[in-house]
Amino acid sequence: MNRKKILVVEDNEDNRRILVYRLRKIGDFEILEAQNGLEAIEMTEKHSPDLIFMDLKMPVMDGWEATKRIRLTAGGRRVAIIALTAQAMAGDEQKALAIGCDDYLAKPVVDPEIVREKVERLLKKYAGPTLVAVQ
Ligand SMILES: [Mg+2]
Repeated sequence: MNRKKILVVEDNEDNRRILVYRLRKIGDFEILEAQNGLEAIEMTEKHSPDLIFMDLKMPVMDGWEATKRIRLTAGGRRVAIIALTAQAMAGDEQKALAIGCDDYLAKPVVDPEIVREKVERLLKKYAGPTLVAVQ
């Protein structure tokens, strides 16, 4: 089985490290990191990750804009995206789902079982065979 690729997009270094640490405990993933939305788009095009953790508030380009742009690309429709939301920002969860995120995760990320459940469920969601309409 191929190693799944997970892209962690987060401008805060501590938050990024915590999430990467959690992911390494969960499975043998190839983990990529980006610090803003622009880097996220470039890395998504280059590496075709299976799953993206996307911080919403970042400099250069935020996670809202990056998610919308990734969803407009051919490969970007088949990647799972989990928004990283700040607990103080009520309403961001529903907004994140509305712009095309599959799920959301509140920061700080403390419970490894919550991360595991989301990762395992969402990696399966896009792993099935591509259905092609036959005329
Ligand atoms: Mg941030």
